[in-house]
Amino acid sequence: MGALNLRQLILLLSVSTALLILANTFYTSYNTQRTLLIEQTLEVNHAYAAKTADSVNNFLLSAQQQLLIAAQDVVQAESDPKKLAHIVKRLKEQTNSFSSVMMLDAQGTALAISHPVQHLLGKKLQNYGAAQALKERRPLISQPYTSVTDHLVVLVTHPVFDAQGHYLGFIGGSIYLQEDNILHTLLGQHYHRDQSAIYVVDQHSQLLYHQESQRIGERIVDNPVIERVTVKKSGSQQLINSQGIEMLAGYAPVLSTGWGVVAQRSLDATLAGMDEQMLIVARHSFPFFMLVVLVVWLVSRWIAKPLWQLARSAGNLDKPDMHTQISNISGWYFEVSQLKQALLNGLAGLNHKMGKLNLDNITDPLTALVNRRGMQAALDNWQQVQQPFSVITGDIDHFKRINDQFGHDVGDKVLQFLAQHMHDALRPTDLACRVGGEEFVMLLPNTDKSQAHKVAERLRQRIESAICPQVGEPITLSFGVASWPCAQASIATVMKNADVALYAAKSAGRNRVCSCYESCE
Ligand code: GH3
Ligand code: MG
Ligand code: MG
Repeated sequence: MGALNLRQLILLLSVSTALLILANTFYTSYNTQRTLLIEQTLEVNHAYAAKTADSVNNFLLSAQQQLLIAAQDVVQAESDPKKLAHIVKRLKEQTNSFSSVMMLDAQGTALAISHPVQHLLGKKLQNYGAAQALKERRPLISQPYTSVTDHLVVLVTHPVFDAQGHYLGFIGGSIYLQEDNILHTLLGQHYHRDQSAIYVVDQHSQLLYHQESQRIGERIVDNPVIERVTVKKSGSQQLINSQGIEMLAGYAPVLSTGWGVVAQRSLDATLAGMDEQMLIVARHSFPFFMLVVLVVWLVSRWIAKPLWQLARSAGNLDKPDMHTQISNISGWYFEVSQLKQALLNGLAGLNHKMGKLNLDNITDPLTALVNRRGMQAALDNWQQVQQPFSVITGDIDHFKRINDQFGHDVGDKVLQFLAQHMHDALRPTDLACRVGGEEFVMLLPNTDKSQAHKVAERLRQRIESAICPQVGEPITLSFGVASWPCAQASIATVMKNADVALYAAKSAGRNRVCSCYESCE
């Protein structure tokens, strides 16, 4: 795998940052929601337990009130069995409060007793509730006990005293805890949904009401909520129940009896809706996240592009037109603008050096004229652009002698002297070249053969009449002239023709100009 580029790095960084922030937001919001939901559920359960405890309390008070009134009627009935039976029947039927109603005398014999235990009429009842009522002779709500009919029962009683204050017995209503009664209606109606539950215990932690009726009568142990509610505390708490399920429980006491009401809901059920909620949040935030990624992608492109262009240019500095390419890169921020400038400076330096190298490469060091390589390059170029030109070739006459007479160094000086003359005689667009020891070529663009002949002749005369300072006498050259294009001849042929003309000039006695005999004009 290749190295990552800046754009990919920015994208990677931004997207991972965005993902991290998103995950953190999700996590925080999940936790906040969870805490909130738990707190709310605890509060709701507490409120519900308190309200229910209050209702149960009111129900019991009203049941006691009914018994109080019935007790007064019993006194007025003056032990008339019919009247007593009527009072008991009415009490049983007028409300749904009691499962059965009874009037017992001071010895515990049933003077009147309602359905469904009417067969006990005239019998002595010896259950726990009756015994307690007879003993204490005050309004009572008994602890739950198992009756002779095998029901789990709570007995609500009121004593009956005659006008003289003699104890006549009590009137009582029993509530069968495991059967349908007003307590069930009161507790069980609306709450058994969403895995919520309500239950009631007496002050000894015995279940008086539970949605699973077979558990009624069971004693609950090791439950912190029960421990608190049985000492008449009210509140809410998160706990693990006997089945190991985490519960959110609210609790409140029934003040008249010391019973406790607990409303609870499992933690799982409470939080069940949250996953769905989080999914909704995720679904809603996804388009925004994608938008962020898109924006980051575009911005990262924008940031990385000039750097990428610079990097690519840096690897291609030898290509033509790099200066324009680099200049066109937008240096809109500091690093890029600095790098761009540095690259342009470097390129300028490089170009300068290359130019100089190039120049050295095509320059004859002795005379500073263009060497054979430079001449060839110019000819190739002219061939390509079909540039018409004339060529003058020149060769010093009897140069060997000068060398022999004055030495090679003087010979070199003579070469320089003559080169200067040639250079001065030409136009700036012309090219003077030294192509051999003492052989020269002059290329004259846009010049025909006869014009070139004149130029050569003028140069020849100029040199002829000049005294060479090193030698102290004039030096002469012979010249040959040719032109291109010329018929179908190639440039190489034309150059050869110029040489032929030069030899002709030599043969004809030197110090003269000869034009190529081919007529091309
Ligand atoms: P001509 O051309 O008139 O026939 O006679 P020439 O004596 O000039 O004969 P040719 O052109 O054959 O001789 C060239 C001589 O130029 C040979 C050599 O001594 C001399 N020469 C060539 N290159 C250099 C150079 O770089 N420096 C010096 N000093 N002399 C050179
Ligand atoms: Mg020669
Ligand atoms: Mg010569």
